[in-house]
Amino acid sequence: MKTSIIGYPRVGSLRELKFASEKYFKGEITIHELQQTATGLRASHWKRQQENSIDFIPSNDFSFYDGLLDTACLFNIIPERYQALKLSPLETYFAMARGYQGEQGDVKALAMKKWFNTNYHYMVPEVDDSTSIQLVGTKLFDEFLEAKQLNITTKPVLIGAFTLLKLAKYTGAKQARDFIQETAEAYVNVLTKLNDLGANWIQLDEPALVTDLTKEDLVLFSDLYARILSAKGSIKVIAQTYFGDVRDCYQELQALPFDGIGIDFVEGKQSLELVRQIGFSNDKVLFAGVVNGKNIWRNKYTNTISLVQELKGHANHLVLSSSCSLLHVPYSLQHETKLSEENKHYFAFAEEKLREFAELKAILTDADPYSADLYLRNEELFNGVRFKGNETVQTRTATLTDADFTRLPAFAEREALQNAKFKLPPLPTTTIGSFPQTAEVRANRFAFKKGSISEEQYKQFNFDKIAECIAIQEEIGLDVLVHGEYERNDMVEYFGECLDGFIFTENAWVQSYGTRCVKPPIVWGDISRSRPMTVEYSAYAKSLTNKPVKGMLTGPVTILNWSFPREDISLQDSAIQIALAIRDEVLDLEANHIEIIQIDEAALREKLPLRQSDWQAEYLSWAIPAFRLVHSGVQADTQIHTHMCYSQFSDIIREIDDMDADVITFEASRSDLAIIDAINACGFQTEVGPGVYDIHSPRIPSVDELKQGLFRMLDKIEVAKLWVNPDCGLKTRGVTETWASLRHLVQAAKEVRETL
Ligand code: GLN
Ligand code: ZN
Repeated sequence: MKTSIIGYPRVGSLRELKFASEKYFKGEITIHELQQTATGLRASHWKRQQENSIDFIPSNDFSFYDGLLDTACLFNIIPERYQALKLSPLETYFAMARGYQGEQGDVKALAMKKWFNTNYHYMVPEVDDSTSIQLVGTKLFDEFLEAKQLNITTKPVLIGAFTLLKLAKYTGAKQARDFIQETAEAYVNVLTKLNDLGANWIQLDEPALVTDLTKEDLVLFSDLYARILSAKGSIKVIAQTYFGDVRDCYQELQALPFDGIGIDFVEGKQSLELVRQIGFSNDKVLFAGVVNGKNIWRNKYTNTISLVQELKGHANHLVLSSSCSLLHVPYSLQHETKLSEENKHYFAFAEEKLREFAELKAILTDADPYSADLYLRNEELFNGVRFKGNETVQTRTATLTDADFTRLPAFAEREALQNAKFKLPPLPTTTIGSFPQTAEVRANRFAFKKGSISEEQYKQFNFDKIAECIAIQEEIGLDVLVHGEYERNDMVEYFGECLDGFIFTENAWVQSYGTRCVKPPIVWGDISRSRPMTVEYSAYAKSLTNKPVKGMLTGPVTILNWSFPREDISLQDSAIQIALAIRDEVLDLEANHIEIIQIDEAALREKLPLRQSDWQAEYLSWAIPAFRLVHSGVQADTQIHTHMCYSQFSDIIREIDDMDADVITFEASRSDLAIIDAINACGFQTEVGPGVYDIHSPRIPSVDELKQGLFRMLDKIEVAKLWVNPDCGLKTRGVTETWASLRHLVQAAKEVRETL
């Protein structure tokens, strides 16, 4: 039994690539020194895989920033504005990734988007009518040769032609289909060159095949590969899919002369059924994605082995593979000094997953004397009791009824009661929650974590900041105030640390984009709240003012989506547990006279399944009720707000309204307000606060500009429904620009009110 890795993480087990790149960007090291770091990392990643007898070790999975950007550069998809800078190839690459401002000119970066259903982001290749797609780069070949020098014959990996053309943005008249011929030729040239260099296999990544495909998509896919594969020479080609099943193109994949097909049996809900019902071509190799590349739990060998046995009955040639690139999990448990050994037994980060491949290989090779022992130890792990479940939580979730998910009275009645109670002016002004996290704010938190100041000192600092923040908000004239979130490092980590059931790592970083990495908490057990998490600070803020102060919480879907979830219970069950814990906090805030409570669901939209047909059944059917469970217990005149960091939710507008919040704020300052048409079209009830200025830039918007924005919104939204606020939290902004912008915001709202 052979084994294959789709891709390995790149940033280094201690984020060496991140730190080297950032030094290079600041001019502290040369490009040559940066390249040396990269060479060292690649060599060590290949060696690790070799030590674990991986048969198909990837190369070109390394990237200085992003794999799709590498592919664009390999194929000359470099917009003219970057070429005009006349920089070296790597400098041009970084200009596309990060923008360039210097002697050679001033250009913005390419657009960045989320990579399918992950928290990784890719750079969007930009194609115009003058783009000539052709093989011009050498990275793919250089890295193959680099490994060969180390006596490792790798399997080069490259984003496939279909996914490349599907994800590119077309700025001219030409569309994907107009590039079929030249794209196919460029890929053929890659294959020819790899043949010459002695490569046996190439892996072409086609994750776009697991999305909903139209007839035109299928034509594009078949047309591209009919051309590429007819001229491929002796190199063997794997069509590598991941993040789901290929139900729309399974037959086409079988019919085309691919030598291998990579199928995801972890996230691909219908993968096994497809193989069972349609079979698998005798002359192809099935690269079976059985080891989860996205989550950090140990592989359950019993399940994997029975799956493999069944697959063997359908496919003549089988290779064990990761379900997707290991890019989406952290490096290694080795650097976790604080996690208990007990915890660690249950986890496999990238390096430990390699070990799992070696063990599975041994177990599936009957002659191996150690295999029985390895198998038993794994079985014991899963048969044992991992943690003591929380009975209170389990009873609570088991006894929930429909009433717990329904807030009464209905919206219209609540709206009237709340208007009568708060007596806010028309166009009430507010903010999204956080205020600038200055160096001193961070230093205070850090000093407390390190133990160099007492808890009392730590809190006193936060109380002083809150007092200052409330005073300025009052002076500026905002209508609904916030405490400023000075105690929070991050909107998910903070709650994870306060709740029971989460555990945290020191170094389990996962690349999010470029040099930015995130360190998601792990959902270990049943989630519960043993003490109030935000009441003290919110109540203190409220004690300082007669104006309403919004309590500030993160919602269950966002907390779950930005964590490593459990695999022994469903996402739905975890979401409900978290929802109950946050619900307790909501009720405590209410009991402490916090009359407006915001529950942020920044990440709700981003985990929508890749196929629209799965949205309801697999996600929205529990995500929306989980949110309602959080707030359904409050009084009619307690006002519930929610916030989302984007406005692209036209396609789930009814579900957003079904969250049954009283007010929703969202980003809109950068988009064309199209969302407002969608809101009107569906009879949206919730009051809305489309962001009137962009907090992602230090720019201070003028009063006139803000007024114009408000008038444009008033063309479409009833005055009684409209709130006035920035488009997101202000924590990344500087102090001066923040207060200046908010002053303008309040002034603009006042002047517009006078015209009503
Ligand atoms: N309340 C959070 C803040 O203001 C919301 C952050 C977010 O939407 N990402 O920072
Ligand atoms: Zn936001």
